[in-house]
Amino acid sequence: MVQRSSRAVIFTGAGVSTESGIPDFRSPGGFWTKYKPIEFKDFVASEETRLEAWRRFLMIRQTIVEASPGPGHAAIADLVSRGHVSHVITQNIDDLHERSGVPRERIIEIHGNGTYATCLACGLRHEIDWVKDVIAETERAPACTSCGGIVKSATISFGQAMPEQEMADARAATFNADLFISIGSSLQVFPAAGFPVMAKQNRTPLVIINREETGLDGLADLVINAEIGLAMTALTDRVARR
Ligand code: NAD
Repeated sequence: MVQRSSRAVIFTGAGVSTESGIPDFRSPGGFWTKYKPIEFKDFVASEETRLEAWRRFLMIRQTIVEASPGPGHAAIADLVSRGHVSHVITQNIDDLHERSGVPRERIIEIHGNGTYATCLACGLRHEIDWVKDVIAETERAPACTSCGGIVKSATISFGQAMPEQEMADARAATFNADLFISIGSSLQVFPAAGFPVMAKQNRTPLVIINREETGLDGLADLVINAEIGLAMTALTDRVARR
């Protein structure tokens, strides 16, 4: 299927980054088994909650900064460079697709990017190291240096509006796709998991690669329950030999 495609969309979730040492959310020992997610409305409503959210974020960020792209990222970058894949739509915020060499214009981050922060009021970019320093010095959540607004990591929290441009780009890529491959997502988080559904409604073949069952296995043309590094390396080896 990959060999025949030239406009495949690869849709990734947290599972593609676990082999890089970044825990996913739902596996045993994953982040959510330890912490209940902080909703956007609570982040906005309370400075105390913001400080707690930032402290958690800074812990995850340390893991992300120290991580390197894994075999799954490398295989995806290889398929993009061979001309089989038009876009990588990712739910991940760890920047590892870009760091693995996928060109920026082929990556659509529908849940944002965790390598920087923005002001929710004026949009000004703030660096995470600055946030870290402010918290260390003041024990308070940071405020925008320009307008005093709330500063938040450039990621999408539960209850926060999805980014319009990225959602439009992801829809366009999905409609244009000749193959849709979901890799390392439990396909439980909507609206993100709506993209494989959309692909199927458009009669695009759907492949799901995940170690365990997902919410959309019943829709797929092919389900591969395997470790991502192993499955994707086998796939790229085969594509390379043809
Ligand atoms: P999820 O945690 O719900 O699902 C991940 C899936 O990947 C699970 O079903 C798990 O069994 C599978 N998996 C994990 N490692 C695997 C491996 N090596 N091989 C095969 N399968 C493997 O993640 P999700 O669907 O992405 O949704 C969670 C949300 O959390 C997303 O919105 C995402 O933005 C966010 N998140 C991002 C990161 C990151 O940026 N790396 C990490 C955690 C969570």
